[in-house]
Amino acid sequence: METSSTPRAEGPPDETVKLIGCAHYKRKSKFVSPCCDKIYVCRFCHDENEDHTINRKEVTELVCAICDTRQKVQRNCEKCGVQFGKVIFDT
Ligand SMILES: [Zn+2]
Ligand SMILES: [Zn+2]
Ligand SMILES: [Zn+2]
Repeated sequence: METSSTPRAEGPPDETVKLIGCAHYKRKSKFVSPCCDKIYVCRFCHDENEDHTINRKEVTELVCAICDTRQKVQRNCEKCGVQFGKVIFDT
């Protein structure tokens, strides 16, 4: 496997937004798994760590990575207003 993970500087660094990340994604939110009530960055992390797979349609809550507020799934954080992105779960 050949993956080049050279960090490239594209545009100014956005210091106000810290992205949390896992091996799969970089994003501004984590989600609360409805099945086991745990917090994961992405569903792959969940599926790798649990003995069951997540049903993302059942996810109703997420946690803002900026201010750590647990809230229902929405586009913007209800507390700090950060934009989570157009979809919480792509794919
Ligand atoms: Zn689970
Ligand atoms: Zn992941
Ligand atoms: Zn927030």
